[in-house]
Amino acid sequence: MSKTTPDFFKGQLTPDVVELFTSSSVEAGRKPGNPLPLSLFIKAVEQAPVAISITDKKAKILYINEAFTEVTGYRAEEILGENESKLSDKCTPREVYYDLWHTITRKQVWHGQLINRRKQGERYLADLTIAPMLNESGKISHYIGMHRDVTQAYRAEQQLNNQKHLIESVINASPVAMAVLDSDHRIILDNQMYKMLVSELGHNEPARFFLDALRQDMSDLWPEGVSLPRAFSNREVRVEGAGRRGTRWFACSGNWFSEEDARADHFFLKQSRQYLLLSINDITLQRRQQEKLQLQALRDMMAEEEHIRSIRETLLGAMHQIRQPQNQINAAIQLMAQRNDTNNKPLKDLLSQVRQMGEETLNTLQRCVPEIPETAVVPVNINQLLHEVMLLYSTKFLANGVVVDWLPNPVLPSVLGSANKLRMLFKQLLDNAVNAMNRGGSRERLIKISTTVGRDWIYVAIADTGPGIPPHQRNKVFEPFFTTQAMGGLQAGMGLVMVKEIVNQHSGLIAIDPNYKNGCCFNLSFPVCPKNISTVTGHE
Ligand code: FAD
Repeated sequence: MSKTTPDFFKGQLTPDVVELFTSSSVEAGRKPGNPLPLSLFIKAVEQAPVAISITDKKAKILYINEAFTEVTGYRAEEILGENESKLSDKCTPREVYYDLWHTITRKQVWHGQLINRRKQGERYLADLTIAPMLNESGKISHYIGMHRDVTQAYRAEQQLNNQKHLIESVINASPVAMAVLDSDHRIILDNQMYKMLVSELGHNEPARFFLDALRQDMSDLWPEGVSLPRAFSNREVRVEGAGRRGTRWFACSGNWFSEEDARADHFFLKQSRQYLLLSINDITLQRRQQEKLQLQALRDMMAEEEHIRSIRETLLGAMHQIRQPQNQINAAIQLMAQRNDTNNKPLKDLLSQVRQMGEETLNTLQRCVPEIPETAVVPVNINQLLHEVMLLYSTKFLANGVVVDWLPNPVLPSVLGSANKLRMLFKQLLDNAVNAMNRGGSRERLIKISTTVGRDWIYVAIADTGPGIPPHQRNKVFEPFFTTQAMGGLQAGMGLVMVKEIVNQHSGLIAIDPNYKNGCCFNLSFPVCPKNISTVTGHE
């Protein structure tokens, strides 16, 4: 190979570099069978879109390409013979240079970022790679440096990081627990409040717990094949016995968003992934305050209903009493008619008159029986109703030395029904339990109230430690005016009739547990409210 300088290099290269490019070692280094002329390699370096410089062992610049001039602003005649440090902004830490030189003098490639200054004085961030070039004896003869201005990319990356940090700190400072879940329900991001929920609720992944609770009452939260499901907001979830703070209420909101898949496989074939931002707001304090206010209103309403009910029972009881002689008079009149007994016509007329008066009295009484006001049928939460009735009854429980063991299912789907009627139902069962324990003189006065969930049913069990109901009377107790008490008064015997009626109105079932031995246990079941019309708590 001749050592003449190619034309296009004339005037740009120092003799050192000419030597470098045309040396027999470079020529020898070409791979055997490589048909490309050397000039092509030189052109490739010259026109490469990355700033390339070749230095001696002390970083004295011997060669620069066109891109170097574009990036630094220095033309060849201004920089050749200068040290690379001319580019330094002098604010790169010394350790970086130490590491740079430590690496390249060990014949290794160094890659890193430095702050450089252009000829015009403007700073830029250089992404620099320096590779040592070895001579035939394997010693370093030169260094080749390649750098790009990555200021813009760095700025964009930093802005992205700043935004991420900003979002993270806003999310962390939020008083609402937040978690981002992927479509496999894995937590991708969460905040401090969410982490607190983990310890407070004792669930490893509260988000999944809440999603399950929401799913019980909402139609499919995350339907397959839907690009972005509809957002939901302020869905209440009532959690029983959560931690030391007892019952708690949470308002859950969910927003879906999608993100382009950043994996290399999807560079050309774009694919997006869906995420759910779940916000869980603890609204226990507000709910408790509301509950206090509601409780007084409830107390008044239930007292009024109780009053109506007692009038109803009195009148129905009186009608029941009148119907018995009325039936006997009817029977006597029919008997006389069959015998065609004309001698006793005055008696027959008298009986007919009495019957007529009796019917009128019954009609008058019937008209006086007050109706129990109908209330709206909406999704209701049985746990909440039981809880309210227990609160209303707390003084009665205390006065009667009754201990209540409340074992609710942590989360309960709603039941479609009338809150008022269901409250009356539970109140009646608790009334019966307290009265039975008082009557039976039970030493241990315990009422156990539990709720559980089946596939489509909610189960309630109310058990007491009273004398219980003998097996042969268990079906009769649901009949009108039947009482297990020796001295059944006028008002006795209608409570369970009303209970049964309310259960029927809610398409539910009620039975006395035949296996319960410590007293009496009523088992009730109600169908779960259809999902499309339900809410998780279902307050009226
Ligand atoms: P200097 O006095 O030049 O050096 C600082 C430290 O580096 C010294 O304390 C010493 O530990 C070490 N050092 C310097 N020269 C040598 C040597 N020959 N052998 C072993 N250790 C040595 N710097 C930039 O700022 N920007 C660039 O774009 C850049 N590109 C480079 C490209 C190449 C190919 C090479 C070889 C070096 C490049 N450098 C670059 C490094 C540059 O040469 C300087 O070392 C650096 O700029 C620091 O300059 P200085 O004047 O502050 O300190």
